[in-house]
Amino acid sequence: SRADITYFGAGPAALPTDVLEAASKALLDFNGTGLGIAEHSHRSELAANIINEAKADLATYLEFSPEQYEVIFMQAGGTGEFAASVYNLVGAWVSRQHAALKKELGDDEEAILAALRKKVETELKVDYIVTGGWSLKAYQEAQRLLGPEYVNLVADARTINDGKFGKIPDESSWKLSKDAAYVYFCDNETVDGVEFPAFPSILTPDADGNGPIVVADMSSNILSRRIPVNNYSLIFFGAQKNLGSTGVTVAILKKSFLPPHTVQPSAPLLRKLGLPIPPIILQYEIVAKNNSLYNTLSIFDVYIAGQVLKKLLKTYPDKVDGQQAVAEKKASLIYGALEAYPDVYRIVPDKAVRSKMNICFRITKNGDTDATEKSFLKAATVLGLTGLKGHRSVGGIRASNYNSIPLEGAEKLAKFIDDFAKSS
Ligand code: PMP
Repeated sequence: SRADITYFGAGPAALPTDVLEAASKALLDFNGTGLGIAEHSHRSELAANIINEAKADLATYLEFSPEQYEVIFMQAGGTGEFAASVYNLVGAWVSRQHAALKKELGDDEEAILAALRKKVETELKVDYIVTGGWSLKAYQEAQRLLGPEYVNLVADARTINDGKFGKIPDESSWKLSKDAAYVYFCDNETVDGVEFPAFPSILTPDADGNGPIVVADMSSNILSRRIPVNNYSLIFFGAQKNLGSTGVTVAILKKSFLPPHTVQPSAPLLRKLGLPIPPIILQYEIVAKNNSLYNTLSIFDVYIAGQVLKKLLKTYPDKVDGQQAVAEKKASLIYGALEAYPDVYRIVPDKAVRSKMNICFRITKNGDTDATEKSFLKAATVLGLTGLKGHRSVGGIRASNYNSIPLEGAEKLAKFIDDFAKSS
């Protein structure tokens, strides 16, 4: 039964049982309305309340200002956001350049267009820091949409680790562009178990708040640690790890990238500049203007996310700091168990960049990694420790230590790691 299992899958992840119990009732009859939450109109007042409460609770929990940041619910998945970030932030770059040229050249639209074309050709750059499989995919998507000539590889972690992910190159080696349209990184690489230990100091804004435009994918570590939201222009994440059920994706966007401050360039202008035209559903300004209801949003998924946030706020009076302390404790229990047997367990990433969410390791006994890992997975399943198989692209073992894993679950896994190493 559900109570016998601790599920360490990487996403979708386990959700809190009490949230699912409430959701199962809400699916049949939401708050005594006689109609289920997945049946009510997304235009109803109750849907608007669910959206607005989830937005407010996210801001409260992560401690960012709703005056400065907009929360947008979308359905594109993390993968859709790889594209959305390109479209919207390149669009914002074009918009800024256009405004500056208008100041300089007045109303001469032809001269502005010629100068803008030149600027695109010579100055437009988007920067990617590649530290694992997901930032690599985002980098490739930017290359596909814009053309590789516009995409700058700031650092590729594989170059310092025999062609494999597992380290983060020293910031002194990063090749940042001058005035990039944005700098992109993935805060926690789910497949490779690599997490940025802190916000990169080279990207930190100065005392006046001026600095690079930073975008981060936080699909697999959002809500697990304090983040300096003010250092980012855009943070996005799929819900299906720490927030809720698969089907909703969240973007936290600095309001200065939305109207009236920034207005996305028109499709004809982008066409003239040879830049890609975003599908309307990936335009943040359109989705934000409609409070995430430009088209039919899954209110059920937003409801689940909202319930998870309410539970977190209730459980941790000190909000994300409380959850962070628990996440660190669980991760150190599991890493500690692994470190005790260096002849049996090899932790994949470098110690300095180990993920607290996705704990990736290899197991070898009698010189046979494959057979040992198979028997580890089998014995773990018997004990109710499931979902431990590593991503198909890298193999090995991965224990995803998301927020819904209770401390007892981590203790159980740590004990099993210890017992397995000792067994013959
Ligand atoms: N980014 C990260 C860090 C992820 O872990 C994942 C999915 N596991 C994605 C992006 C892609 O998300 P989706 O499957 O929702 O497109």
